[in-house]
Amino acid sequence: MLDSTPSTVADRVALKINPAKTCQPVGAVYAALGVHGCLPHSHGSQGCCAYHRSHLTRHFKEPVMASTSSFTEGSSVFGGMANLTQAFSTIFEMYDPDIVAVHTTCLSEVIGDDIPTIISKAREEGRIPEGKVVVHCNTPSFVGSHVTGFSAMVKGFVKYLSENTGTRSTAINILPGWVEPSDMTELKRMVAAFGLPSIMLPDTSSVLDAPATGEHAFFPKGGTTLPEIKAMGDAKATLSLGTWASLEAATLLETSCGVPFQELDLPIGLAATDRFIESLRGLAGVDVPAQIEDERGRLVDVISDMHQYLSGRKVAIYGDPDHVIALTEFCRDMDMKPVHVLTGSVGNAFETRIKDLLADSVPDANVKAQGDLFLLHQWIKNEPVDLLLGTTYGKFIGRAEDIPLVRVGWPILDRVGHSYFPTVGYLGSLRLAVEIISAIQERQDRDAPDHAFELVL
Ligand code: SF4
Repeated sequence: MLDSTPSTVADRVALKINPAKTCQPVGAVYAALGVHGCLPHSHGSQGCCAYHRSHLTRHFKEPVMASTSSFTEGSSVFGGMANLTQAFSTIFEMYDPDIVAVHTTCLSEVIGDDIPTIISKAREEGRIPEGKVVVHCNTPSFVGSHVTGFSAMVKGFVKYLSENTGTRSTAINILPGWVEPSDMTELKRMVAAFGLPSIMLPDTSSVLDAPATGEHAFFPKGGTTLPEIKAMGDAKATLSLGTWASLEAATLLETSCGVPFQELDLPIGLAATDRFIESLRGLAGVDVPAQIEDERGRLVDVISDMHQYLSGRKVAIYGDPDHVIALTEFCRDMDMKPVHVLTGSVGNAFETRIKDLLADSVPDANVKAQGDLFLLHQWIKNEPVDLLLGTTYGKFIGRAEDIPLVRVGWPILDRVGHSYFPTVGYLGSLRLAVEIISAIQERQDRDAPDHAFELVL
């Protein structure tokens, strides 16, 4: 399918081919689904909302609910106020959510709809019932990516709802970043092991990995509750996991509520998880639990035992910046060579960070923010790799160049399991390391001549 991709890299500024990102509202919807009793609302046309919902559904294999302002030609000319105020009446009458999380789209941003004013008007007109909550964020998709949309929505919840009552609690806030429901469960387990009470925002566990019960729950049992989001303003600290997805909300919690934060990478891999654990240890004031020490030891054991399969293997890593940074460090620490590293999201800081991580081991690595998969493919044509590490979209490159792909990040549209088995923490990193090792061993078996086809690897 991609057999015609040329190896000669030409300068491109105004054209993306096979983007390594999608649009901001997708992230806003995902974040809103992690709040209990919340209905994400797309202020734009039906097509946008249908796309965002279907993309999330394809990844999670779960129904994703969201409402839309259903713009028509008239709204495009006169603005979307009438549509949104009517939508509030319909939403609360038909679905009765506790909270509606409004995000904008390209069209409503170009029109310039003033969402806070529309919300105020709807409240004055009695379209938003007493006790119900509406929050919003701006997610124009001609800038940013699904990650910045996620960040904007999390920040929106904090801005509207978190309060400093003047009494500090013992709880810590966990901003988990854009990770799977399984990762959120694992993060909570690790925090609880230190005896720390915590509030996680958002929390899509028991929402997008909910079990089949025979009954459809329009609002599943999981998700951060409104009182919890409010109480985040009284927490003693915030752990912000993933700069691109979480730092904005963490910063706002500090400036508006006085909650200090620690900025950390997603805890994927040995070193990043070590830093996460060290932060928990400092906040809890206790030793690292033996159970967590053992999990670390198992990860170290597998990486050490399998070093011969990992050492020097060239890998191309692509996807969301927070994931790619953590994965690059993990691969580097397993003695692999991340020779091509790319994200579709913006940020010079991304390129600087990756180059710092690889300064000693792969100083001439190709690194790009705001890149696309066409460029990644061209890089690979010029310097082949042993492994692709990233989203489902890389499978076309893998097929064209006969390279194994380990799926990690978002979206994964053609496999299951990511919602149920974590990638974060020592256990999640162990799972990921095993997937990487297995992919390399599978290839070794496939390519081995008869005399080198071994029973024991
Ligand atoms: S890029 Fe803009 S127009 Fe397209 S689906 Fe996203 S929000 Fe809608």
